[in-house]
Amino acid sequence: MTSTVSSTDLTGQMLIAGTAVHGTGAEIRGFDPTRGAELEPAYRHGEASHVEAACAAAAEAFHAYRATSSDQRARFLEGIADNIAAITDDLVHRAHAETGLPEARLTGEVGRTTGQLRLFASVLREGSWNGARIDTAQPDRTPLPRPDLRQRMVPLGPVAVFGASNFPLAFSVAGGDTASALAAGCPVVVKAHDAHPGTSELVGRAICAAVADAGLPPGTFSLLYIPGPGLGTALVTDPRIKAVGFTGSRAGGLALVAAAAARPEPIPVYAEMSSINPVFLLGGALAGRGAEIGRAFVGSLTMGSGQFCTNPGLVIAIDSPGLDAFTAAAAEALSASAPTAMLTPDIADNYRAGVDALSGEATLVARGSADGDAAVSCRAALFSTDAAGLLGSKSLQAEVFGASSLIVRCADLDEMKTVAANLEGQLTATLHIDDSDVAHAGELLPILELKAGRILFNGWPTGVEVCHAMVHGGPFPATSDSRTTSVGSRAIDRFLRPVCYQDAPKSLVPSAIADDNPDRLWRRVDGELTKD
Ligand code: NAP
Repeated sequence: MTSTVSSTDLTGQMLIAGTAVHGTGAEIRGFDPTRGAELEPAYRHGEASHVEAACAAAAEAFHAYRATSSDQRARFLEGIADNIAAITDDLVHRAHAETGLPEARLTGEVGRTTGQLRLFASVLREGSWNGARIDTAQPDRTPLPRPDLRQRMVPLGPVAVFGASNFPLAFSVAGGDTASALAAGCPVVVKAHDAHPGTSELVGRAICAAVADAGLPPGTFSLLYIPGPGLGTALVTDPRIKAVGFTGSRAGGLALVAAAAARPEPIPVYAEMSSINPVFLLGGALAGRGAEIGRAFVGSLTMGSGQFCTNPGLVIAIDSPGLDAFTAAAAEALSASAPTAMLTPDIADNYRAGVDALSGEATLVARGSADGDAAVSCRAALFSTDAAGLLGSKSLQAEVFGASSLIVRCADLDEMKTVAANLEGQLTATLHIDDSDVAHAGELLPILELKAGRILFNGWPTGVEVCHAMVHGGPFPATSDSRTTSVGSRAIDRFLRPVCYQDAPKSLVPSAIADDNPDRLWRRVDGELTKD
């Protein structure tokens, strides 16, 4: 393996434990949605034996990989980041061809991908991921003595990651799921998304090179091209896989959750699925700057053809002149928006079907300018309905992946609260408020805390900071497990579990919870946080 791969080196092969392997199944090719052209080289889906080989290698690698120190794993993650950064131009070029996403956006995504790998390296060195706790023995306690109890976190085992279509880098082969699982000490088997096979190979090779450079077992990482239903499910049901990370459709995520739950040994699936990200416009903000908010809303809605899990698909406001100003400005901006390519023909078809479904139930406010030649272009759409319309319809709450949104006109704050209380779980909820709206916002906030993973004020949900305080999660169907996040440093917790050592001989106690604290960790000792 070499870390300086380029697009011209693409071989169309899977990477199983450091070995490049040709698939023998159905041919898949990258597809350039802006030119409507298929890309070289051809890739082929793998077979059951490839899933078997990747899982066996991951299981074999697990014991040596989990025994690496935090610093070794941190250097490994930094090695992956360095290798990816070194091929930025090739990655951006290939990902642009395979997705139609603008090069500037993809350059940012390379930075985000390497940034989150480096974030997890810093998390490993900082050490609180160990969750070290010590309750010292109390042999003289009556009526019963207390044993010596020590707790730390250990990795779950090999993790299957399903790359997302809409972030070919930051949520794909070396994305947040892979970075957090590798940081936790879990080998990773990635199912590449068929929409960007070349980008996946480039990144896969960068990871394999880092595995080799770090002297890690080759099974620490594998990259498979396999069909989701069938072999993707076989990956999830392989007994050596202990957890799953997924970003995509509700149907796909639920299929994997069901497969994982039906295993003889059920395992967690962290699926990020569907969210329409409600935006609440309160009266003071609307009265003061309705038109300005309307224009900014369209900027967020149409960015990247609306192909963000945090796209603002629902706007909820009290009927008022301010809402009229918002709607007029949004309609004007949206009508002027040009059609832009969507990621794949299937996603474009789903978008059109979703817009058609909305057309049947809600009033059309505006459409983007007419479709260009490309069969995969997204023509933005804005609809409106009233609170009764939304509350009486399941399909009006369904995610339409792309630049489509629905304005819900409410009679008063109580109706807004009723709408909020009846929403499904969301990744985000946004409030636009002025000082005069704070009391009303305070009434909505306790409802929204139960609905969303992130609550924003006077901003837009598209754009997810990778940091320690971020939550990119939320109640079902936003995710299959609302207790976690797939972005930010807490994502590592998904792939760890606590182990308690009771009265362990000193020579067997892991360093994170050893008496002399050799790793200089913050630890909870007899209830107090201390480094002593
Ligand atoms: P998808 O259809 O859910 O596919 C995502 C991944 O899961 C693919 O690798 C796919 O493999 C696999 N998969 C899908 N169904 C499966 C099943 N039943 N069993 C096993 N594996 C399965 O998502 P997509 O291709 O990215 O986009 C399709 C639609 O998903 C979009 O139109 C949109 O509605 C939604 N989506 C939502 C988000 C979000 O963040 N909320 C992001 C992306 C997409 P195959 O390709 O081999 O089937």
